[in-house]
Amino acid sequence: MRVDVVTIFPEYLRALDLSLPGKAQRSGLLDLRVHDLRDHAHDRHRTVDDTPYGGGAGMVMKPEPWGEALDALDIAGATLVVPTPSGEVFRQATARELSTRERLVFACGRYEGIDARVVEHAAEAGAEVREVSIGDYVLNGGEVAVLAIVEAVVRLLPGFMGNPESLVEESHEDGLLEYPVYTKPASWRGRDVPPVLLSGDHGAVARWRREESLRRTAERRPDLLGGRDGA
Ligand code: SAM
Repeated sequence: MRVDVVTIFPEYLRALDLSLPGKAQRSGLLDLRVHDLRDHAHDRHRTVDDTPYGGGAGMVMKPEPWGEALDALDIAGATLVVPTPSGEVFRQATARELSTRERLVFACGRYEGIDARVVEHAAEAGAEVREVSIGDYVLNGGEVAVLAIVEAVVRLLPGFMGNPESLVEESHEDGLLEYPVYTKPASWRGRDVPPVLLSGDHGAVARWRREESLRRTAERRPDLLGGRDGA
């Protein structure tokens, strides 16, 4: 998968050179290219923002540098992901969907966001535009959202996970939160691992895990159970 990120803080994306996303880059599974938006700002100060039409606080990202940066990336046929608190909420299903794309281009906003004409133009230029929020809170910029989205998407690429089974059982994959997990030792600081997990009875373990998933979900995220019959 090819991923392009346009940002005024290219260093932010260095975290994707670490751990498994870094390994995915070295193995060729992920072709990540980070671009500095200011390379497309041509005044002495490399300005990318201006005051908002209609007044109000803050600055807005100018359309010209964005237009030029996206033109240079030739986004026709790509999926342009624009992080914004007013986008669709990013979920595991969104990550799955994006993991099927060959090419993702991310546009990291700063200040009060990007001039609204930029996404309209990108859609007209043939990109699939997805405005995506990573949650109901406001960050200073799109970079942290891109780190989260890229990590969630790339780990779903075939060949990324050593053991693809671990993906199947995760939180949100079946609409539930994952059951609690334990490792050795069986007893630690007076706390014992639930005996069923030591029983060797695979059926009983599977039932216990399912019940724990349901219990946890009902307790912590009852909204996820809405619409489930007899859950
Ligand atoms: N004025 C904007 C609003 O109220 O919707 C907030 C702009 S925010 C300070 C600057 C940038 O951070 C946004 O353009 C976006 O790229 C990013 N951002 C902030 N919160 C986000 C969120 N919850 N999800 C995704 N991106 C976010």
